[in-house]
Amino acid sequence: MSKSTDQYAIETKCIQSGYRPTNGQPRVLPIYQSTTFKYDSSDQMGRLFDLEEEGYFYSRLQNPTNDAVAAKICDLEGGVGAMLTSSGQAANYFAVFNICEAGDHVIMSSSVYGGTFNLLTVTMKKMGVNCSVVDPDASLEEINALFRENTKCVMAETIANPALVVLDIEKFATAAHSHGVPLIVDNTFATPINCRPFEFGADIVTHSTTKYMDGHASTIGGAIVDSGNFDWLAHAEKYPGLCRPDDSYHGIVYAERFGKMAYIQKATAQLMRDLGSIQSPQNAFIINLGLETLHLRVARHCENALKVAEYLEQNEKVAWVNYPGLKSSKYHELAQKYMPNGTCGVISFGLKGGRAITSDFMDHLKLAAIVTHVADARTCVLHPASHTHRQMSDEQLIEAGVAPDLIRFSVGIENANDIIADLEQALTYIK
Ligand SMILES: *Cc1c(COP(=O)(O)O)cnc(C)c1O
Repeated sequence: MSKSTDQYAIETKCIQSGYRPTNGQPRVLPIYQSTTFKYDSSDQMGRLFDLEEEGYFYSRLQNPTNDAVAAKICDLEGGVGAMLTSSGQAANYFAVFNICEAGDHVIMSSSVYGGTFNLLTVTMKKMGVNCSVVDPDASLEEINALFRENTKCVMAETIANPALVVLDIEKFATAAHSHGVPLIVDNTFATPINCRPFEFGADIVTHSTTKYMDGHASTIGGAIVDSGNFDWLAHAEKYPGLCRPDDSYHGIVYAERFGKMAYIQKATAQLMRDLGSIQSPQNAFIINLGLETLHLRVARHCENALKVAEYLEQNEKVAWVNYPGLKSSKYHELAQKYMPNGTCGVISFGLKGGRAITSDFMDHLKLAAIVTHVADARTCVLHPASHTHRQMSDEQLIEAGVAPDLIRFSVGIENANDIIADLEQALTYIK
């Protein structure tokens, strides 16, 4: 959890935000590999537990290495507070559960990542939170019609994984705000380099830092960033967790005590304390290394992806290509509005032979590896219907925008000609 103050350009923030050493301190972010922190007086420790003083006492709640990295992500997104979690799944779970409880209802885009889809429609349902799923291309009226008395938030992805639907953030923010609830946007694929959802009305942003932020496929992690813009007290009856006394914290009222920091404070002091999904400081250090080159890598991912998408589009064995950076994309206009500098490095496409020849084609790729991952330096490929989305029915797949023949191709930062040559040679095997 941390505050943001920097006014630098985003490239500079990637390098300089977060850890700011003072005279004689280590130049590079230290790894505070310690569960606990020592105090000279028992009283001071007591004040920390009462949240009356800021400080560290146990790394399940807060750790200086994690906080420095959270502060950098916070600055990149332009938020007021942020926290790291052990995974992107934990980030999305905490982001929603921080303002929901049994008996509540949420609205979610149908094209979100499979893990998020399961979390909200299956696991959180068992906890008593009901979820309505909406087509991200639905009209404002159709979205408005889904709100109920007990709706507590709207959840969507800037660029959906793997459907690559570009979200009309303003449309969803308008719907959410006119019903007095916040919009939560998972900004994993666009990254704050290409899109900062707060600038278009999103209230809370989440990340799987496992993807471009780490960028080297070495560390699972997540982050939650709060814009500080949603006025919880104006909707106090909806958000008792933030606006009524917390019995598990000596009756603290987060929204009154912490103002704009209330949402992240509660998620840290209460959810992280009780559910314990903290990032290890070692992993936070690795994510920070990734963040230092995020602006360089994301630009190259997008440049390469556009070349690969253009190549695939003109290949006669390819049935269709979906990349929001392509002029032919249905989402090109939205992408120009929300992410004019680029979208992401992930492309999806289908072959003329359909699902039947997909595995054969993938097995012939040499440079692009078949892995359950996207968005790292190495080009990789996956068939969601057989892998990540295997649990979904054909109907659910289509609703999620994942055609049964969809190949998810995550373009890395190798030389684009080598990536294209690899596709070319594998396509020669397809008759
Ligand atoms: C991967 C991913 C997640 C889940 O993140 P993990 O770090 O794998 O837990 C959530 N949202 C999106 C958009 C993702 O791509």
